Amino acid sequence: MSDVNWRRYETLRPDELAEIVAEVPIAYWPLGLLEHHGWHLPVGFDGIKAERLCTACAAKTGGVVLPVMWWGAEGGHQDFLWTHYQPPEASAAIVCATVRQLIRFGFRAIILMAGHYPWQDILDHHLLPIAKKHDDVLLLWGTEMSICKPDIELPGDHAAREETNYGLALLPELVDLFALHPGRQPKDVWPGGDDSVAARVYPGVRTDANDALFSQLGEDARHANVAQGGQYVDALVEHVTKRINTFIAG
Ligand SMILES: [Zn+2]
Repeated sequence: MSDVNWRRYETLRPDELAEIVAEVPIAYWPLGLLEHHGWHLPVGFDGIKAERLCTACAAKTGGVVLPVMWWGAEGGHQDFLWTHYQPPEASAAIVCATVRQLIRFGFRAIILMAGHYPWQDILDHHLLPIAKKHDDVLLLWGTEMSICKPDIELPGDHAAREETNYGLALLPELVDLFALHPGRQPKDVWPGGDDSVAARVYPGVRTDANDALFSQLGEDARHANVAQGGQYVDALVEHVTKRINTFIAG
């Protein structure tokens, strides 16, 4: 299918929103988080990845894409510089309120694409009751790993080879593999240079500031490749858009 018209929610005037809801009542909402994603990826990686997956889907189905929800919670990097974790109940409250509003405004398919994996538990816990109350609405949520389940399971990690595969496919202009070199100091990664917090970081996450693969959890990101990332993206977009189109047509 060729690309169809989709719009950014925040750029639309009321009449335009009414028109789009009447024609294509589909809303995508990328959920991200700001956190250290290794030396080679931007701190907004999760949100930008999710946003570009949403726009790729929206290009197939039409509809609107909401602004990235940056204020997520939970994960293994709370002690790192440039990392912002919020109280989980605050993140959940914003998500639930917004989803209920979108339903009230007439959207019939609402897709929450989470780039940061700990969103999964928050969404499972809070969205299931809303989904049960509104069986006339397709409420679809998950990470790139989970959103196509059970048909397709895609891989993931933290800032390592798999996430970098997605990065090379989705936001290549913001990825710099040459930044993966050793030589940084504790002051470069820990607030105040205090590396004593490294001891409580999630098991498996690399915590030596001098390590080229610092902050990563998974296989070496230097072995990432764009073709692999492109396959993941294509599979996800095809699966998600087919599911939405089937629901909307039915
Ligand atoms: Zn990530």
